[in-house]
Amino acid sequence: MKVALEFLYHFRCDRCNQWWSIADIEPKIGNSIHCPHCGYLNTVELIQTFREAAKSTCLEIPPDPKFCN
Ligand SMILES: [Zn+2]
Repeated sequence: MKVALEFLYHFRCDRCNQWWSIADIEPKIGNSIHCPHCGYLNTVELIQTFREAAKSTCLEIPPDPKFCN
């Protein structure tokens, strides 16, 4: 069996706070991205990695325990 990793980025609009996702792209800090919900032009300020995001989740098996408090 082969296993493939998909890069799926989740975006939250600064104006309407709604979420959307885009796979197989690589956003960069400073990129401008239009919200598909309200059309607001957002600027990418921070790209949070999975391990950083997992700090505040309740995953049963943390991806890296040293990052989970
Ligand atoms: Zn929006």
